[in-house]
Amino acid sequence: MNEHYLTGIGMTSQRTRNRLVQRLRDAGIINEEVLNVIATTPRHLFIDEALAHRAYEDNALPIGNGQTISQPYTVARMTESLLAGGPLSRVLEIGTGSGYQTAILSPLVKTLYSVERIEPLHIKAVERLETLGYGNVHLALSDGSWGWPEHGPYDGILAAAAPEDVPPSLLEQLADGGRMVLPVGGEEQKLILITRRGDHFTRKTLEAAKFVPFLPGIQR
Ligand code: SAH
Repeated sequence: MNEHYLTGIGMTSQRTRNRLVQRLRDAGIINEEVLNVIATTPRHLFIDEALAHRAYEDNALPIGNGQTISQPYTVARMTESLLAGGPLSRVLEIGTGSGYQTAILSPLVKTLYSVERIEPLHIKAVERLETLGYGNVHLALSDGSWGWPEHGPYDGILAAAAPEDVPPSLLEQLADGGRMVLPVGGEEQKLILITRRGDHFTRKTLEAAKFVPFLPGIQR
């Protein structure tokens, strides 16, 4: 590890990251805690070195296996919406991917559980998040359609892939008063926020979205 590994240099430097944060502010992100975590998280370490110079653009980028690291704006928006109900203790993420959204959520919640269905991505995320010292994160290779019932109920659930409709297991594993943010739909997707009060679920549309599809089963 050289001295610039975490802090970055040139296109991965703090100045470049601050420009990204300004873009997110301009796009309407207001939660200072979220913006601060984005400013201090080395996104260039969550993608291939060949793409590192583009890490602090506000874009999704390929991470292999046909998947993408989420766009910073989307990560910020989803995280902010999840946190808007107050502090979160147990959170479930579906679609670890590179682990970037996981890294943003980790310092903002007590315990974070995250599942990924593609084995090579899961293995890389485990190595990366361990190396970077994210101690409150638990990762599993699993189909998120079933949630992660052993650790539920969760007061926050976030999915980074779009199902046609919300898997019933995820609704069941949402705690009373909990919040779930996820994209739904096929060609036309929208990002929605679901809140639970007892057995009543309220859905609110946040904005139009474009995510990879939520797929069943494990891919080795
Ligand atoms: N937030 C991640 C986004 C990765 S893209 C990042 O910033 O890197 C979404 C991920 O969801 C992909 O890795 C895809 O494999 C995964 N995914 C899709 N359907 C899934 C399912 N049913 N269970 C678990 N992961 C799933």
